Amino acid sequence: MQGVLKTLVVALLFGGSAYCSNEVEEGKKILVLSPHPDDDVLGCGGAIAHHVASGDKVTTVYVTSGEMGIAEPPGPQMRAKIREQEGSRASEILGVQHTQFLRLPDGHVQANNYTVSFIENIITRERPAIIYAPHDDDGHNDHREVCKMVRIALDRLSHRSDSYVPTLRLYEVWTPLAAPTYVEDISDVMETKMAALAAHASQLAGIAYDEGVAGLNRYRGVVHGVHIGSQIGYAEAFGE
Ligand SMILES: [Zn+2]
Repeated sequence: MQGVLKTLVVALLFGGSAYCSNEVEEGKKILVLSPHPDDDVLGCGGAIAHHVASGDKVTTVYVTSGEMGIAEPPGPQMRAKIREQEGSRASEILGVQHTQFLRLPDGHVQANNYTVSFIENIITRERPAIIYAPHDDDGHNDHREVCKMVRIALDRLSHRSDSYVPTLRLYEVWTPLAAPTYVEDISDVMETKMAALAAHASQLAGIAYDEGVAGLNRYRGVVHGVHIGSQIGYAEAFGE
């Protein structure tokens, strides 16, 4: 089915700065850039589930395999393998069609000519309508570098002759956005998001990310006026 899903009333809050909707065009290509396996779920797992439900084709690229996110032992290769398996399982739960692991060193991600070209090639290959990445001011260096990579890659692409201009949606993980420009009601897929997050058992064993993200998404629901009937819902916020 082609067209546009219109299932939620648009809400404008805070002087009209945040656009709240789960209105999604169908059949688009979506690219999700995740510095570590789990950032995709935390930052935009609900939005991913919506894209899949509306027939979009989602590709998630894991920039590192998150090998520093598990205490030793085991060694780095086994730690990366565990986290890749968790990322693959979480993506499967969200319904993501394609996943890719770039395997850059966890904790040492840099936006340099090599890594930017890699991202540029992926964007050129996929030509996604929407790109998800962490926002510029996230508290983790790897996240900020991934954001930088996307911005430089898109700037390079903008100098080419064709008119391809994707929508950039920058998600929040370690640092909430000061002024979101787009807020999506994810109440109807919150259960799916949390199931995908549960696949990251190695991470939840150390830190209660599930409680953290449920709190953040609830906060977004409260301050951006997302309701399920008379109940407050859950939302994800994005910058651009
Ligand atoms: Zn991360």
